[in-house]
Amino acid sequence: MSRKTILVTGGAGFIGSHLCHRLFNEGHHVICLDNCFTGSLDNFGDRYGEMIQSGRFEFIRHDITEPITIEVDEIFHLACPASPVHYQYNPVKTIKTNVMGTYHMLGLCKRVGSKLLLASTSEVYGDPQVHPQPEDYWGNVNPIGIRSCYDEGKRVAETLMFDYHRQHKLAIRVARIFNTYGPNMSIDDGRVMSNFICQALRGEALTVYGEGEQTRSFCYVSDLVNGLCRLMDGNETGPINLGNDKEISLLELVKAIEAAIGRPLEIIHKPLPQDDPVRRRPDLTRARTLLGYEPKVSLDEGIAKTIAYFKQAIER
Ligand code: NAD
Ligand code: UDP
Repeated sequence: MSRKTILVTGGAGFIGSHLCHRLFNEGHHVICLDNCFTGSLDNFGDRYGEMIQSGRFEFIRHDITEPITIEVDEIFHLACPASPVHYQYNPVKTIKTNVMGTYHMLGLCKRVGSKLLLASTSEVYGDPQVHPQPEDYWGNVNPIGIRSCYDEGKRVAETLMFDYHRQHKLAIRVARIFNTYGPNMSIDDGRVMSNFICQALRGEALTVYGEGEQTRSFCYVSDLVNGLCRLMDGNETGPINLGNDKEISLLELVKAIEAAIGRPLEIIHKPLPQDDPVRRRPDLTRARTLLGYEPKVSLDEGIAKTIAYFKQAIER
C-alpha cells in the first residue's frame, strides 16, 4: 500500500484520535488538525512522543472556521463537537464550524485535488418518522430548536459536499454516523454512555432523561473507524449510514452496564431534553452491500472496554 498524506480535522477528539492511530499504524503520514475545544492530545497517550518523532505525525492547532492551505491526498473532516452538551454550549460557533469548516475543506480539496470525507450524522434524520433510517429518508428536523445548530449545520455541510461534487467534480464521501462510544470519550461530555458509566463507577445514580424508553443503537469506535476507512477507500460517495443496528432502550442500556459493573445501579429520572429523538437505528443495507461493512464488537464487549478506560480516566 502506498503511503498517503492524510489530514484528520478534529483528530484530537474521540473518534478522530482512534482514526489517527489507525492511519498512522497503516504507515501513512497523518496530520491531525484540532482547536482542542473538546479534544485533547492526551487522547494519544504515551504514544504521542513516538508518533511525532517518527516524522509521520504532525499536530496543527487551528480553528477550522478559518481557511488553511496544506498539501494532502485525503481529508477526513471530523471537526465539530458531537455531544449535545458541547454543541449547544456555543450554538453559533457550532453552525459556523459545520458550514464554514466544510466550506474551507472543500475549497482546499478543489485547490489541491484531494479526496474529502465528511463525518455527518444520524441527526440529519432528526426525530425520525421512518424506522430504521435508510439514507433516502429526508428526515424530520426542527430548523429552529436547540439541536438545530448541529442537525441543520450537518445538513448544510452535506449540501455543500454534493454541490461541490456536482459543480466542481470533487471526490467526496459522506458518512452518516450513528451513536458511537468507546475509550477517549470525554468524562464530562454529557453523552449517555459516558454519563452512565462514570456515574456507575462513582457510585452515583444514573440520570435517565424521560422514561428511558427512547432507543439508540450503539456502535463501538473500532467498528466505526473501520467503516470510515472502507468508505474513503471505496468508490461510493454516500451518503452511507455507519454504526451498529442493534437497537436498545436506555433502560436496557442501564441493565447492560449493571451486568458489566456487577452490582445493582440506582437510577433517577430527569426531564427529557427538547427535540430528543424517540428512536434511532441505522438501516445498514448500503454499508453492508457497497462497503462490505459489518460491526463486530458486541455491546457487552464494548461496554467492558469503555468501563476499563473510564476507570483509569477517573483515577487520573
Ligand atoms: P469530539 O467532540 O470528541 O471530537 C470533535 C473534535 O473536533 C474535537 O477534538 C474538537 O476539539 C474538534 N473541533 C471542534 N470544533 C473545531 C473547530 N472549529 N476547529 C477545529 N477543531 C474543532 O466528537 P466525536 O464524537 O469524536 O465526533 C467526531 C465527528 O463525528 C463530529 O463531526 C461528529 O459530528 C461526528 N459524529 C459523531 C458521533 C458520535 O456518536 N460520536 C455521531 C455522529 C456524528
Ligand atoms: N440521556 C440520558 N441520560 C444522560 C444523557 C443522555 O438519559 O445522562 C439520553 C438522551 O436524552 C438521549 C439518549 O440518552 O435520549 C442519547 O443521548 P446522547 O446525548 O448520548 O446522544 P444523542 O443520540 O441524543 O445525540
